[in-house]
Amino acid sequence: MNMQCSHCHHADTKVIESRDVADGEAIRRRRECINCQHRFTTYERIERPQLIVIKNDGTRQLFNRDKLLAGLYRACEKTSVTSLQLERLVANVEEELYGCGESEIPSAKVGELVMQRLADLNDVAYVRFASVYRRFKDIASFEHELSQIRELKSNEKSRAVKELKL
Ligand SMILES: [Zn+2]
Repeated sequence: MNMQCSHCHHADTKVIESRDVADGEAIRRRRECINCQHRFTTYERIERPQLIVIKNDGTRQLFNRDKLLAGLYRACEKTSVTSLQLERLVANVEEELYGCGESEIPSAKVGELVMQRLADLNDVAYVRFASVYRRFKDIASFEHELSQIRELKSNEKSRAVKELKL
């Protein structure tokens, strides 16, 4: 990143020293202007842009990874899914969300990204999460969801879904 001189506003400065501060969350740089040799210090904070989630009712709230993770833990109770797998899943979803370049994302999109990945991990967790996330309006939409995942999965795996008490 180039930085204008704070003294003469020349566009080019060189970095003469650079070090991490605050556990790598920020970088302190000593800079020197190539025009007037003025020296100054900048701090670059490594910060992700804020991600706004648009809920179905149109309200907006900040994306909250902890809340998402908590919901996933609930969905994965008494399944073989490990916390490491969930951490990876959330990190993966976050990467995709931040990578898409949008600052506002519909909650349905977040849900889809999570559910795609959860379906690969565990059917039971997937259906539990989907039922909470989508707040199925009626049993028909829930059954539609189930039939879709059954089509996707092998016979062996779909038996696990049938074992869910609906
Ligand atoms: Zn200067």
